[in-house]
Amino acid sequence: MAALCPCYSGKHYADCCQPLHQGTIAPDAERLMRARYSAYALKLPQFLNATWHPATRPKPMNAQEMFGIRWLKLTVHSAQQISDTEAQVCFSADYRQGQQKRAHLYECSRFVREEGQWWYWGALDDSPQDAKASYTL
Ligand SMILES: [Zn+2]
Repeated sequence: MAALCPCYSGKHYADCCQPLHQGTIAPDAERLMRARYSAYALKLPQFLNATWHPATRPKPMNAQEMFGIRWLKLTVHSAQQISDTEAQVCFSADYRQGQQKRAHLYECSRFVREEGQWWYWGALDDSPQDAKASYTL
């Protein structure tokens, strides 16, 4: 049975994020960003830990702390490769934590390429504030 990918690409998981989760190098930052979202949705902490740049990575995530959150929607607003080693992806994601109201997250993330692979660096400080505000429900 072919399931649709949790990253909302409209493709099947096997043709989208699954190969990345199984070790294929992401061809660009957007694909990595989508695969990281899918990894949140599917509770794959190893993938998240393995693609977070060691310089900014917090303590390793474990599956347990991911279980209370359901990821409901991903929208990629823009993906821009700035240079060979740097890219920026702006996205929003909807999620629900426990019984709380559906919440909305907006982030522009920085990705860097080192040793031939893309890494998630973190949220950019200059994620547009007005965009953030307009997404507050
Ligand atoms: Zn996907």
